[in-house]
Amino acid sequence: MAAKIIDGEAIAAEIRQQLKKDVAALEHAGKAVKLVAVIATENKGARSYAARQEKDCAEIGAQYELAELPADSDEAAIVARIQQLNADRSVSGIIVQMPLPQGVDARRLQTMIAPAKDAEGMNPANQGMVVYAPQPFYKKPAEGEPGYDNWLEQSLGWPLPSPAPCTPVGAVTLLRSLNIDLYGKEAVVVGHSEIVGKPIALLLMAHFCTTTICHIATRDLASHVRAADIVVAAAGVPGLIKGEWIKEGAIVIDVGINRVEVLDENGKPVLNKKGKPKQKTVGDVEFDVAKERASYITPVPGGVGPMTVVMLLKNTVDAAKKG
Ligand code: NAD
Repeated sequence: MAAKIIDGEAIAAEIRQQLKKDVAALEHAGKAVKLVAVIATENKGARSYAARQEKDCAEIGAQYELAELPADSDEAAIVARIQQLNADRSVSGIIVQMPLPQGVDARRLQTMIAPAKDAEGMNPANQGMVVYAPQPFYKKPAEGEPGYDNWLEQSLGWPLPSPAPCTPVGAVTLLRSLNIDLYGKEAVVVGHSEIVGKPIALLLMAHFCTTTICHIATRDLASHVRAADIVVAAAGVPGLIKGEWIKEGAIVIDVGINRVEVLDENGKPVLNKKGKPKQKTVGDVEFDVAKERASYITPVPGGVGPMTVVMLLKNTVDAAKKG
């Protein structure tokens, strides 16, 4: 079976269109939407990520501001800036840009952002709301019971928590977009980080998947993946999930983003114009083999990545709606 490719760019574009309408409605009601990025670095990657955020905000009609601090700022100075933004009624969402100056604790900063303005959804209060994901059912109704007829719509349509970690909500939104009954499906999440693996596993459980979490200490990764109806790969190891492990018809969501060298047919690095090895972005799953076995698969790039970006905007717009 050749898998259908899940087009994250297209689904993210649809969400952006809706957000644009939401921002216009908020403005009409006298509420501007503003995302502020706290930045204390000259790092090129951080600056280009900020430029991307600015462009994304402009596209949906939201305001964007950089709260600049010197690259040698200490934690107290950054916390003080975050507290000002927490208190500023014109600010809907706050993000702290990485990397941070040496010695500054990212986790502490995330706890200092007011939960209601937490654009990345990483404040422990918002992580906690993922545990409390408002799963509206105790179990699937039996045939003839109330709710049976519109089960699929109900079970995939309840609002996901917000603000909540962007990548997990983005990945689960892709899964929901397939309009498949997730009740009782065997799901395997490879990776158990706070930002990706753990919240994804919690959200899958809220959809009644029987969820297994694998990580670096898992003894037989292959056997877990082989049994899965849904595989979510989030380890950051290129090619970790072998295509032949994927069960026929399984759904594959590849969160991994890895830069690897492009090789020629002899396995030698292909060089670019500057004579340096050419690189490309790949996920954690052996895509070419996996796509012949899976029913649906996300590409890398173009799968989960665009969803992460749009969820940052959604968290901010949702915050403005509540503010
Ligand atoms: P992390 O390093 O914090 O966590 C990696 C996880 O993978 C850990 O739980 C670790 O135990 C597990 N792991 C590592 N090697 C393993 C192995 N050989 N076998 C089994 N488990 C293994 O990384 P993270 O921040 O959770 O990110 C994971 C990947 O997702 C990275 O590639 C990252 O770039 C990517 N990512 C993508 C997006 C996106 O928008 N698509 C967003 C965030 C992170």
